[in-house]
Amino acid sequence: LQYTLSSIMPAESKYPPINIPNVGLWDFLFERKDRDFPDDKPIFVDADTNASLTYSQVKQTASDFGKGLKALWDWQKGDVLGIYSPNSIEFPAVTWGCHFAGGIVSPANPGYTVSELAFQLKDSGAKAIVTQLPQLEIALQACAHVGIPTDRIALMGQARHPESGRFKHWTTIRNLSGTSRYRRAKVDPAKDLAFLVYSSGTTGKPKGVMLTHRNIVANTLQITSAESPLSWQPRPDAPEGDSILAFLPFFHIYGLTVVLHQSFFRGTKTVVMPKFSLEAWCAAVQTHRITFAYVVPPVILQLSKHPLVSSYDLSTLRMMNSGAAPLTHELVTALYDRIGVPVKQGYGLSETSPTTHTQPWDLWQSTIGAVGTMLPNQTAKYMSADETEVPVGEVGELWIKGPNIFSGYLNNPEGTKNALTEDGYFRTGDVGYQDKNGNFYITDRVKELIKYKGFQVPPAELEGLLVSHPKIDDVAVVGIYREEVATEVPVAFVKLREGVVASPAVEKEIVEWLTTKVANHKRLRGGVRFVDEIPKSASGKILRRVLKERLVVEEERK
Ligand code: AMP
Repeated sequence: LQYTLSSIMPAESKYPPINIPNVGLWDFLFERKDRDFPDDKPIFVDADTNASLTYSQVKQTASDFGKGLKALWDWQKGDVLGIYSPNSIEFPAVTWGCHFAGGIVSPANPGYTVSELAFQLKDSGAKAIVTQLPQLEIALQACAHVGIPTDRIALMGQARHPESGRFKHWTTIRNLSGTSRYRRAKVDPAKDLAFLVYSSGTTGKPKGVMLTHRNIVANTLQITSAESPLSWQPRPDAPEGDSILAFLPFFHIYGLTVVLHQSFFRGTKTVVMPKFSLEAWCAAVQTHRITFAYVVPPVILQLSKHPLVSSYDLSTLRMMNSGAAPLTHELVTALYDRIGVPVKQGYGLSETSPTTHTQPWDLWQSTIGAVGTMLPNQTAKYMSADETEVPVGEVGELWIKGPNIFSGYLNNPEGTKNALTEDGYFRTGDVGYQDKNGNFYITDRVKELIKYKGFQVPPAELEGLLVSHPKIDDVAVVGIYREEVATEVPVAFVKLREGVVASPAVEKEIVEWLTTKVANHKRLRGGVRFVDEIPKSASGKILRRVLKERLVVEEERK
């Protein structure tokens, strides 16, 4: 009888385990023995200017920048460098230069407001920041808030500051490298952090996700091993091999690991775009003969519907990968019917570096709707709401373990304890099941998180702001999926203060007020619903499910 208690076994990956070398990111990318592409292969290409950087140029500039950091700011092991910038071909060398000097990179959304950026700089303990001219004003104000002196702000990008000398350009820092006096910092790959990215996890406000060198090395190899090697071979019509379009932001873990690290490790030509517009995207695919693109569902929507798409030759595209948010069956089919390009899915989280699952290329059509099979070196459990394990195949919250799981939230033992079990499993907050072949299907989300076009919108953050509005007494924010834009949008349920009368004008006032306080993706695109009371449990927790159900009913009535 006792056996039955332990008869539920975790699910193992279908892939054979892979070897994950015990090296830091620098060794992994720049000192590897098995590299099969030449030093002078252009890896990063600017989509607009065509400027490019070869593998060896990236290596050289990164080590020079790392030495410059030591020379200029006495960079020490564990010092945090904030990067507040859109994608650029310089971004990678700045990142790896910081690693050369033993530092940790904390990339921030270039659309952040002063307070959002200041929060991340303060929380991560950033010592300096690299930004671009268009972002400088906000960076200056945020740095002033948190006490980062102006001379610790460096610029990258083409545009120079009119008062030359006031802000150092990163190339100037590189030029300080001078002698070989500065050596590369030694890292302990499993302990030392490479990145601090920000995620709200299952609850609350954004937290610093501590990602070690080993996490990123592991995930890069896990992804690489699962993507069929054959599919990446040069073909007659693409003799130089695949070309990837890198428009997903490098500050988010999807762009950071899957696009940036993976393509550099493989030596794939990576065409870098600072921001998405459908026209620029299609033009880049056509001009640069892009063969593969990592995307998010709203991009698939536009590609399958927008008239503009027909004006471009997208025939070099062989496959796309969608991640970061749910992708519907209809969109996969609509895209294929229109432009003949298959789309597969990947799934993961900031806390898992990110990819835990990806659909094998050859299964994209037979497993539409699945987010993939589990990558190697991981095990998964499925848990019921009361945290008992359910048999593999039944629906439960996914708990996952592997070398890509983060080491905790920065300075947040409680958040870490809630996220990671003692035996190393991470609670994803996503609910689903795997079929008998290991394909994972997501059916629900048991965390607060809202995703707008793949970006995180933490309800607790918006609620914290909204409750300080003079007309608001209490508030709860939940998400609703809008098919016409293929994304969730946040909706605020608002209990007004006594004496304030609900009206469209008050709704407008609240929406516009919040717009001035948050980055674009966190705006209240779903509007406001006025209520007499916010439903709460006996312990005072917002009953979000009740509110979501109200929205579903509202949608059905439309
Ligand atoms: P982030 O940490 O910003 O990458 O957000 C992770 C969350 O995005 C996951 O917990 C999921 O809720 C969601 N997500 C990521 N990939 C997918 C996918 N392919 N389908 C549905 N949701 C996804």
